[in-house]
Amino acid sequence: MAVETLTRETAVESSQLSHHERDLFEVAVEQFEIAADVLGLDDGMRRVLSCCQRELTVNFPVEMDDGSVQVFTGHRVQHNTGPGPTKGGIRYHQNVTLAEVKALAMWMTWKCAVVGLPFGGAKGGVQVNPKLLSRTELQNLTRRYTTEIQPMIGQNKDIPAPDVNTNPQVMAWLMDTYSMNVGYSVPGVTTGKPLVLGGSEGRNEATGRGCVFAVEQAAKTLGMDLTGSRTVVQGFGNAGAVAARLMAELGSKVVAVSDSRGGTHNPNGLDLAAVAAHKARTGSVSGFREGEDVANDDLLLLDCDVLIPAALEGQITGENATRITARIIAEAANGPTLPEADTILYDRGVFVLPDIFANAGGVTVSYFEWVQDLQAFPWTEQEVNQRLRQIMTRAYEAVHETSQKYKVHMRTAALARGIARVAELNELRGIYP
Ligand code: GLU
Repeated sequence: MAVETLTRETAVESSQLSHHERDLFEVAVEQFEIAADVLGLDDGMRRVLSCCQRELTVNFPVEMDDGSVQVFTGHRVQHNTGPGPTKGGIRYHQNVTLAEVKALAMWMTWKCAVVGLPFGGAKGGVQVNPKLLSRTELQNLTRRYTTEIQPMIGQNKDIPAPDVNTNPQVMAWLMDTYSMNVGYSVPGVTTGKPLVLGGSEGRNEATGRGCVFAVEQAAKTLGMDLTGSRTVVQGFGNAGAVAARLMAELGSKVVAVSDSRGGTHNPNGLDLAAVAAHKARTGSVSGFREGEDVANDDLLLLDCDVLIPAALEGQITGENATRITARIIAEAANGPTLPEADTILYDRGVFVLPDIFANAGGVTVSYFEWVQDLQAFPWTEQEVNQRLRQIMTRAYEAVHETSQKYKVHMRTAALARGIARVAELNELRGIYP
């Protein structure tokens, strides 16, 4: 397989295959300005909120299995500490840049505010292709990166979580490293942990589940029956695979899914358990016997009612937005749609459930996990899912109402709500000294 035959050096090199040409932080600031205009936010607050409060870049060595030493670059960014401790995932990807991590940290601030969590936004990333590392190398990289960013994180300071290519095992190593460094166990320093280490029921599924709750609300607004509808999901990872399964449980036909190596399409609906088994065997959903292979770019244009981008940013552009057939786009990924595409989709009547709302289920259950850890008192899965549904439903109603009130699309409405809350609390706290 091509990926495995790449040289070891490739693990630290940035690939040129990045989809989005634009600096992602510029995209985040452009979205912010649009919503700030709607709110009539004053210039001082605009200056404060349009930059990231703290940015740390670390370059650190890892000894590889063959005895060689590689140096990796990582970041941890806290966008705004006004709302409380900061919160946000850590991603391992060969295309990670500081600009991307800054954008993702800013989005986390708005996301937490939209669903009413007492957190500011943060994000971390290491520029690495983790698929080229052995388990030992991955563990060593995680432990050293954790130690490098340790001054910034903590259960009352900044709480990491999984993101692209990280998972409960990585969070377990992070939690253990932090705990070893301080000399006692601190489960609350991270979320998305395995259950036995203080993880929460329902956390693994939370992003996908929250996203499907959002789709249910949107379908209600549009008077659309999800039974018999057709769903396309780009990305079959933490969020996408769960969203696909839950859409199927609601009676939607999942006609295409994909991962970084490509997709599979069957207009009659895919057997998702068989697709997952195929991926477990071969490493990808592509090549699935009962589907036809489809490229990731073409997958977005397939005939469907619900499109769930659940992979990386910058996928829906001014170029392909004119040709998307879906009625609902539910952004399980962060930043999949560029601002120019937002306008086109809105004019075409496509109902976009923006990332800072649609994928907020993940950080919401992370918040539940953090609360459970601080109190050392676990909840049942039913409690978790019930509270998640309640939070997503209330946030939907509030964002939808704002979009009607200002006659703006759901992204600007969600941003306006998030930004208004963060601006208000920063205003109340005042400027130190
Ligand atoms: N990485 C997820 C996100 O982008 C979850 C963050 C968290 O749980 O802190 O929302």
